[in-house]
Amino acid sequence: MTKFEYAPAPESRAIVDIKPSYGLFIDGDFVDGHGKSFKTISPSTEEVLAEIAEADDADVDLAVKAARRAYTRVWSKMSGAERGKYLFRIARIIQERAREFAVLESIDNGKPIKETRDVDVPIVAAHFFYYAGWADKLSYAGYGPDPQPLGVAGQVIPWNFPLLMLAWKIAPALACGNTVVLKPAETTPLTALLFAEVCQQADLPPGVVNIVTGAGETGRAIVSHPGVDKVAFTGSTDVGRAIAKAVAGSNKRVTLELGGKAANIVFDDAPVDQAVEGIVNGIFFNQGHVCCAGSRLLVQESVAEEVLAKLKRRMKTLRVGDPLDKNTDVGAINSAEQLAKIRELSEIGEAEGAERWSPKCDLPQNGFWFPPTIFTGVSQAHRIAREEIFGPVLSVLTFRTPKEAVEKANNTPFGLSAGIWTDKGSRILWMASQLRAGVVWSNTFNKFDPASPFGGYKESGYGREGGRHGLEAYLR
Ligand code: NAP
Ligand code: MG
Repeated sequence: MTKFEYAPAPESRAIVDIKPSYGLFIDGDFVDGHGKSFKTISPSTEEVLAEIAEADDADVDLAVKAARRAYTRVWSKMSGAERGKYLFRIARIIQERAREFAVLESIDNGKPIKETRDVDVPIVAAHFFYYAGWADKLSYAGYGPDPQPLGVAGQVIPWNFPLLMLAWKIAPALACGNTVVLKPAETTPLTALLFAEVCQQADLPPGVVNIVTGAGETGRAIVSHPGVDKVAFTGSTDVGRAIAKAVAGSNKRVTLELGGKAANIVFDDAPVDQAVEGIVNGIFFNQGHVCCAGSRLLVQESVAEEVLAKLKRRMKTLRVGDPLDKNTDVGAINSAEQLAKIRELSEIGEAEGAERWSPKCDLPQNGFWFPPTIFTGVSQAHRIAREEIFGPVLSVLTFRTPKEAVEKANNTPFGLSAGIWTDKGSRILWMASQLRAGVVWSNTFNKFDPASPFGGYKESGYGREGGRHGLEAYLR
């Protein structure tokens, strides 16, 4: 039997103009760094995209000083309504340049254009619109009659949602009257640098936003700089721990958005076909490079066979490949290091006795690829059930009673998110009250909205981003 195939439908790259090299964005201008430079590549082809400046301590110092000047002289003095105008302008420019951002993000990160176009970039614009609306209403946010900004925010973000994490950091900080120094991840600096151009286009006063590219050392220089009043970090629990230690004893305020190992819980009365879509979205969206990914499937024993059969059938239809092809569901793994980590944990999963399954799929020759994978026969003690794999790998466990589902779901050092699939509203409410997770989705998964707060318990970090709650991190 010949299988129906879609013709390739590649999105054109013509809309993006990638320069051969980029400087740092400090005080409203692109400047050469004092340090070395590094290359950013396309993870789907390993093609070198551009040479990027690596900010050293002196560069970070310049950026923090520029942010301080802008804070004292301009931004903290401006009325909320005026600040809001800039944020609205930025939001509109992002919408106007949405296709450019979507294509560039796909190229630099490896994620499918379908997702950057329909998820990342629209939510980025929505986030700026949302916080633009708060800028002149801070007195009504519930943080006192006249809440004040903190000063200079040092912000460090990961590579999995480069532009979206930037928006989550910059929009609330600016709305509240802070200025920022932000470091994108080493492997995905390009959309942050395009955002710097948007700041120029919006006539944002120089120094309000500073983008310093680099790797871990640059991040360390930002969070430990004495001129930074507030540290906002999204990334791994290990680095989060190091940052918490680095700022302990200082006056800096800190929010940490760290890892996760979410349970996606399917009860026997769940609408199975919808649940299967939710499982697929929960773990294969963004190649599973998602902190709140539903990486542990907890399925009620009585329906486990049916759910797994349908899940496997659905996984056979996932299209893995060129991120710029509009039909692609699963793109490239972001880096060789991340691919090595996914492979290692998957091998450990097999060695510990779990059963591994992937649909047959032809992976491209160049670039970093991992097929959508599930592990069955997983026990709670297995490392693949405990550690974040951060890739397209699902660990399947079963349960018999709601109580057992809660115990297993909460049996993790993390607490970022969870999903519940059931027909019963009362069960959804009971489960939600029992689960130690910052976000609980019911009969859906991986839904993000600027108005709802996002953040974790336990080793998933502290502080909330999004919604009214997201303002608290940037106000005195
Ligand atoms: P990571 O290694 O912790 O890196 C995050 C950022 O911190 C990067 O920009 C990194 O620089 C920088 N960095 C590294 N060492 C540092 C140090 N000592 N001081 C300051 N900054 C430092 O995390 P990742 O592997 O890129 O990202 C994946 C992790 O992020 C996962 O654990 C995921 O769960 C988590 N995440 C959480 C959320 C959430 O909202 N809770 C959202 C997305 C991702 P370079 O990488 O450029 O070297
Ligand atoms: Mg890259």
